[in-house]
Amino acid sequence: MTVHDVLNPATEQVVTTVPLAGLDQADAAIAAAESAGPAWRAVTPADRGLLLRRFAEQVDSHSEELAQLEVANAGHTIGNARWEAGNVRDVLTYYSAAPERLFGRQIPVAGGIDVTFKEPLGTVGVIVPWNFPMPIAAWGFAPALAAGNTVVLKPAELTPLTAIRLGELALDAGLPEGVFTVVPGRGSVVGERFVTHPAVRKVCFTGSTAVGQRIMRGAADQVKRVTLELGGKSANLVFEDSDLERAAATAPYGVFDNAGQDCCARSRILVQRSVFDRFMELFEPAVKNVVVADPAAESTEMGPLISDAQRQAVRSYVEDAQEPVEVAFRGQAPQGDGYWYPATVVLPGSTSDRVWQEEVFGPVVAVMPFEDEADAVAKANDTAYGLSGSIWTRDVGRAMRVARAVEAGNLSVNSHSSVRYSTPFGGFKHSGLGRELGPDALDAFSELKNVFISTDS
Ligand code: NAP
Ligand code: MG
Repeated sequence: MTVHDVLNPATEQVVTTVPLAGLDQADAAIAAAESAGPAWRAVTPADRGLLLRRFAEQVDSHSEELAQLEVANAGHTIGNARWEAGNVRDVLTYYSAAPERLFGRQIPVAGGIDVTFKEPLGTVGVIVPWNFPMPIAAWGFAPALAAGNTVVLKPAELTPLTAIRLGELALDAGLPEGVFTVVPGRGSVVGERFVTHPAVRKVCFTGSTAVGQRIMRGAADQVKRVTLELGGKSANLVFEDSDLERAAATAPYGVFDNAGQDCCARSRILVQRSVFDRFMELFEPAVKNVVVADPAAESTEMGPLISDAQRQAVRSYVEDAQEPVEVAFRGQAPQGDGYWYPATVVLPGSTSDRVWQEEVFGPVVAVMPFEDEADAVAKANDTAYGLSGSIWTRDVGRAMRVARAVEAGNLSVNSHSSVRYSTPFGGFKHSGLGRELGPDALDAFSELKNVFISTDS
């Protein structure tokens, strides 16, 4: 059996060793999910909701344990990890109300009655990346289960621990065996099997654009449904009429949260030329004051990167770049063991620079001036991605014009928030396909069925 040593990214010490499922185990988990399907879809809507609320209660009463696991496994700050465990609870609670509200329609037609039903797809495969192991898992499994599907879930090889624990808590909550199964394993083995196995009727994937494209190609063979949440290169647009102090003070947290390993990271800051220098004066102390330290400490604001490989990848954008990039200033980072990298602010020479175009997925932000509103929108949209973005202005008309013009799925005005469980989340362009969360997420886990009943005698 293959095993994976789970490392603590802050110390490089082995936390535990996890057995990795091979093809046979993946197939067995999918078969168990498929055979659990008929009984799960027959559970009454009220009882399915009740079981999801019990699952949420289990997560709530183990939230500190889950948070500590994420600190050790992913190097998340304890503050973030607690929020993430709470988010799993809240997503489960939100969708626990859905089974009883999975309404169809009654459509007026001649000669009878026409009604629609939202039927479960069957077994859904959820593939999760390492950057937000708990929330991203829940955004897939909670609405999928609520809609009457069974779920097989593959955590990232690097971060399986909280997913494994969530699988146990689901059983403790009374979800029947086979309804929600966590299958730790390699992407190339277990993840691929979700794509090729005919009993998996949908793949819900979050991760890199390259793997997402591969999954979409593979899914075509079986006309398999996919939801894809992919990368981002989001813009933070700072206009001259904004509250510049607040814009500069919050900008570090819009990009360096989770050490920049966030698909919504505002990793391109565009500042109107007339206030560019003033913004940079305010931004420098804000970056230098970000507390980068042991993620288990309550006051820590940024922890390490997930792995040495990720640190090498991040470094390549700043230090070994073919095209030398100008570093404006950097924050602090601990020395010694752990995959630390300082918050780094760069000034690219052109919009074609790699660091301006590609997702770094680390604490590196590129800053550039813009001239006017049209230039701001053009530069924001000059990317293959379109996930999120922020707009800082006091002019409400401008805020709305720019929000409508930026090609991205999740925008915030005078704020950097992207994610609420009650609102839709997802990307334009290469950032993905479909939406998660919010009131409509169950549609992505249901087939719409139309039934006509003749009333002719
Ligand atoms: P990734 O390779 O796309 O991995 C994401 C998930 O897909 C993991 O569970 C992975 O498993 C699995 N996977 C890998 N290859 C697969 C395949 N052929 N078929 C099915 N599943 C497969 O992403 P990553 O390696 O974690 O990160 C690489 C880059 O992706 C990052 O630097 C970042 O740019 C981007 N990313 C974006 C997001 C986001 O939220 N949008 C999240 C993470 C990463 P294993 O980990 O076990 O291989
Ligand atoms: Mg990978």
